[in-house]
Amino acid sequence: MAKDYYETLGVDKNASADEIKSAYRKLAKQYHPDMNKGDEGAAQKFKEVNEAYQVLSDDQKRQQYDTFGTADMGGAGGYGGQGGFGGFEGFGGFGDIFDNIFGGGMRQQRGGPQRGSDIRVNMRISFEQAANGLKEEINVNRLEKCDTCSGTGAKPGTQRRTCPTCNGTGQQRVQQQTMFGNFVNVQTCPTCGGEGTIVDSPCEDCKGKGTKQKQRTIMVNVPAGIDNGQVLTMRGEGNAGKHGGPAGDLQIVISVKPHKLFERLGYDLYLDMNINMMQAALGDEIEVPVLDGKVRYKVEPGTQPGTVFRLKGKGIKYLNSNRTGDLYVRANVQIPKKLSEKQKKILRDFGDKAKAKDREAEFVKPKDAF
Ligand SMILES: [Zn+2]
Ligand SMILES: [Zn+2]
Repeated sequence: MAKDYYETLGVDKNASADEIKSAYRKLAKQYHPDMNKGDEGAAQKFKEVNEAYQVLSDDQKRQQYDTFGTADMGGAGGYGGQGGFGGFEGFGGFGDIFDNIFGGGMRQQRGGPQRGSDIRVNMRISFEQAANGLKEEINVNRLEKCDTCSGTGAKPGTQRRTCPTCNGTGQQRVQQQTMFGNFVNVQTCPTCGGEGTIVDSPCEDCKGKGTKQKQRTIMVNVPAGIDNGQVLTMRGEGNAGKHGGPAGDLQIVISVKPHKLFERLGYDLYLDMNINMMQAALGDEIEVPVLDGKVRYKVEPGTQPGTVFRLKGKGIKYLNSNRTGDLYVRANVQIPKKLSEKQKKILRDFGDKAKAKDREAEFVKPKDAF
């Protein structure tokens, strides 16, 4: 299904923006429905050429296409798939088509409300803090609406006025006479930078920007159960928007320090616990560390190396729920490395008796052992 947009336009993969534009103009003229009345093949070709140009003329879409072989960023676009660019019948002459297509990319720079950008900060917390939750203040440098001018950028008592160059549209239309006819190119207005309004006497506090950099202390409520790499989002605590647009978000990326004993997987904890050969053979009551202290646990006689026992509810509390994970403890049976002569003798005597009894069980097929 992958279409080669470069091939469609007949240009090289390294083609410059100008080369792409000129290849497109040539092909759009060649296959334009007005010139090929009733020719289905030309209509299809015209559609493909337009689709290719929409992607390759947009730096972001082109990069995405070069990298992933598709320009579809999650389905919002519509130029990649079914019938995204269907109804070109609605266009009039050449001028209109080029106006629509060449002007399209600049529309976003008009002076409407613009959402502020998000701010990302990192927060490093301990293993226990992640398990129990915490409240902590962080300092954030962000753009805030200027109080002096209420975000207008105009000196108090004065107002912004409509840009005389573009009459408030934020765009400038440039007529171009070419051999193909009359083109209208739409550019960002150079006087107002696309805002549509200008300021005669700028606010002295913010130098006319309408926003100011401020340092704020923000209380962050980290919920119990949060895990390494998770992101807390505080809506509207990011940079201020423009022209009445909403503020961006503050995103707090959590990194959790590892624990010296516990390994965490989801909401369960894992722990390796050394017990000695005698405790494993005879059973014993041992102390097992848990997150908030210690609990006693009865090791059964005959516990094998690697046996895992579960302490229910001794794991991590779930995020936004009353459930709690479990603690899994693996018995690491220790074989003594240094023995006194007396100990060796006791073990040899024990071994002689055990040998006679267990001879047939000396070898076990691996599948029986696991
Ligand atoms: Zn101001
Ligand atoms: Zn303007």
